[in-house]
Amino acid sequence: MNNVFKNVIVKYFIREILFIIFFIIIFVSHFYSYLLFHTSVELFSIIIAVSIFIFAWNTRKISKNNYFLFLGSAYFFTGILDFFHTLSYKGMSIFSGIGTNVPTQLWIASRYLLAISILIAPVFFKRKMNEITMLMSYFLITILILLSVFYLHNFPESFREGAGLTAFKIESEYVISFLFIISAFLLSYFRDKFDKKVYILLSVSFILNIVAELLFTLYVGVYDIYNMLGHLAVLLSYYLIYKAVIEVGLTKPYNLLFLELKILDRKKDEFLSLVNHEVKNPLASIKLSSELLIRHLSKSGDTQSLEDLRVINNDVDIISHMISNLVDMNRIESGKLKYRITRFNFGKFIEEISPVIKTLVRNHKLIIKGKTDVNVKGDKDRIKQVIINFITNAVKYSPKDKKIILSIKTEDDEIILGVKDFGIGIEREKQIQIFDKYFRTERGERKAEGLGLGLYISKEIISFHKGKIWVDSEVNKGSTFYFTFPIR
Ligand code: ADP
Repeated sequence: MNNVFKNVIVKYFIREILFIIFFIIIFVSHFYSYLLFHTSVELFSIIIAVSIFIFAWNTRKISKNNYFLFLGSAYFFTGILDFFHTLSYKGMSIFSGIGTNVPTQLWIASRYLLAISILIAPVFFKRKMNEITMLMSYFLITILILLSVFYLHNFPESFREGAGLTAFKIESEYVISFLFIISAFLLSYFRDKFDKKVYILLSVSFILNIVAELLFTLYVGVYDIYNMLGHLAVLLSYYLIYKAVIEVGLTKPYNLLFLELKILDRKKDEFLSLVNHEVKNPLASIKLSSELLIRHLSKSGDTQSLEDLRVINNDVDIISHMISNLVDMNRIESGKLKYRITRFNFGKFIEEISPVIKTLVRNHKLIIKGKTDVNVKGDKDRIKQVIINFITNAVKYSPKDKKIILSIKTEDDEIILGVKDFGIGIEREKQIQIFDKYFRTERGERKAEGLGLGLYISKEIISFHKGKIWVDSEVNKGSTFYFTFPIR
């Protein structure tokens, strides 16, 4: 099996594979003992019900609405009724003197509780509720059901020995299925309140509940095939609820609890790419026009206008550089910074980009030292971006006419590139923070404009290429920024 395929399986399907194994074991267990099968399915769903409640309860303060808290509470109290249903199931011999009717009544009661709760849960998208009142209400309903089944014996008969399911039980299963169908429709009405994956998981889980209910109208004995298939549908339904709430909630909380923030984040992305296009186009035409004018004016001898135009030209570069940095930073944050990897000769690549570097270093003395002739693999444009960032910083933070030295050497299995300036330097204690997002030294801020993003982006690019990046600097003597580029 090739590695990529293996990684995809491990990353995306390992939990599913484990669940399928678990599912098969549970299914096979019914050949050995139906009671073992039933108890395992019910315990699995009870554990999930309790976990959903614990998750929803502990995240209720940070959650924007009470939908999941209400859902979690409904699952929890349904779980309590399921627990009694499991203990009273035929063959468990825990409660004496009860037949199949009691566990069937408890089952129907727990399904009614769940179906009605799921139906009304969307109300809590808009409305916050008093948590204690809600828990007390569920608690009371659960106690009343247990009393009615075990003590008062006034819960409608659901199973008659010898005759099987009663009309009440069968009709109830249809009513419950109908409630789940309406809930599935309601869910699709409120689909924009959920992340797509959560929405699909919840919908399928509700649909599996319907399938289970319909299968439960068909069984004659509580150990027969329809009863078993119904329980398997319940098992799957709980697994999907677990994935929707716990797995997504813990691994991608933004997709469950903070969906509004995620939507805002997406809007920010859209806004930034809009700015990128809409602002950069006019900037490009300003730059083109100013360059044409510079060429034109340089013959006229109007030095003042020429100087003003150069300032405009320079400022346009600064603005478009800032916008590019903002867009790149956003792409890094969302893991969307794209790389186009090619194989290239590093020495030739430096020769190719040196005319661009020279235009940046007009008022300084550029010296290029060293050579390399090795072939490497990487994104040329991104590496060029790092070198240009080092050079523009060297220009920005060192006085005119000073030297800027670009050096390249090959050592063992890496290329080391350095950009040395003789400028303001960086205090020792600041050197460690220099690659952080938005970090600018006070001296740097006084000296030149910037957003403090260039080195952060450079570090990301170099890390992507498995290289290292660092600085050697002394205040008022200058700085040398380095990166290494692995040859293999
Ligand atoms: P900026 O756009 O602010 O220059 P960078 O991330 O490229 O963003 O640099 C971060 C900060 O590091 C700068 O604001 C400056 O304070 C400092 N810095 C970077 N390069 C140099 C340098 N060659 N000499 C002195 N300080 C530098």
